[in-house]
Amino acid sequence: MSKQIYNFSAGPAIMPKEVLKKAQEEMLSLQYLGKNIGMSVMEISHRTEVFTAINESAQNGIRDLLNVPQNYQILFLQGGASLQFSMIPMNFLAQNETADYIVTGAWGEKALVEAKRCGNAKEVYSSIKNGYKTVPQQTEINFSKDAKYVHYTSNETIEGVEFKYDLEGEEIPVVCDASSNILSKKIDVSKYSLIYAGAQKNIGPSGITVVIIRDEFLEKASKKQHSMLDYNKFAENKSLLNTPNTWGIYLVDLVCKWLKNIGGITEIEKINQKKAAVLYNAIDKSREYFTGHADIDARSLMNVTFRLPNAELENKFCNEATDRGFDGLRGHRSVGGIRASIYNAFPIEGVEKLVEFMTKFSKEN
Ligand code: PMP
Repeated sequence: MSKQIYNFSAGPAIMPKEVLKKAQEEMLSLQYLGKNIGMSVMEISHRTEVFTAINESAQNGIRDLLNVPQNYQILFLQGGASLQFSMIPMNFLAQNETADYIVTGAWGEKALVEAKRCGNAKEVYSSIKNGYKTVPQQTEINFSKDAKYVHYTSNETIEGVEFKYDLEGEEIPVVCDASSNILSKKIDVSKYSLIYAGAQKNIGPSGITVVIIRDEFLEKASKKQHSMLDYNKFAENKSLLNTPNTWGIYLVDLVCKWLKNIGGITEIEKINQKKAAVLYNAIDKSREYFTGHADIDARSLMNVTFRLPNAELENKFCNEATDRGFDGLRGHRSVGGIRASIYNAFPIEGVEKLVEFMTKFSKEN
């Protein structure tokens, strides 16, 4: 038995144990409809009946969990969430057109950089001046009248700031990078034209990007794209335009089944709120030994970011934490500090154990 590790990594992140066990059981011989296929899922063609079923099941899994309406396509792409930073403007923003960008952290910044290569990508809100601690209220955003879409990041993974509401585009199509909070809480998909997420936090392994796109928006996509950058081609081919990440899609399917089995989004949202509350309470009660990065009303349920009195203590904290089996707590290299990522698969005991360690550490140091 390996040592107990509590994995606080921001991504690739902790996977549900049950999913890993199931994948282990089926590693050498996939089971399908109660039969042993005799080969690993990694060894079969993506055109087989078995894989077609897995692909559909994974798509339906996401559709069921998020209540995705029928007029939306669910696609499994590659190139990470980062390729979406480019693919979205390449498809929906021509050189003389405008798109609005709401920037609440480092990932939103990166999305804006790529969009500027295509057209007039306008930053309509940025919280950079306060160090990305806040998210705007709906009423604080002034959309451009002619915007082709508005892009925002529902959870900024590095800074740990999260929107607590589904943005209303007021006639403008809403595009959302939900990489680090998708499947963590209820959202109203019907308010969005496109939602995308790298899988490696709450959906599965790295190497897959989930794109949920409304048919009406799909129709507006550029018809001149290279095939591999063409949303319509992927939609027409049920994501099987070329060889997809078959292993990843298989794991997405297992993760969806796992989540459904534990009570779906309603249940996981309660658990996530509880986990985050335990950690934020410990921060708030520490008399400013620990200080949370995000403003209270923008605190992420998934990435809890905080500081210690100085960088030296932060370093000591991370080193001692690693010795005790708490992995991945060091904040992103661009901002420092501590970041505890507590995605869906992260157990509450791990959060409680971390709080015990934090209390002890603050007394001793
Ligand atoms: N957006 C957000 C919010 C992220 O957290 C990340 C990765 N951590 C990305 C985009 C980039 O994802 P990828 O590495 O899959 O390109």
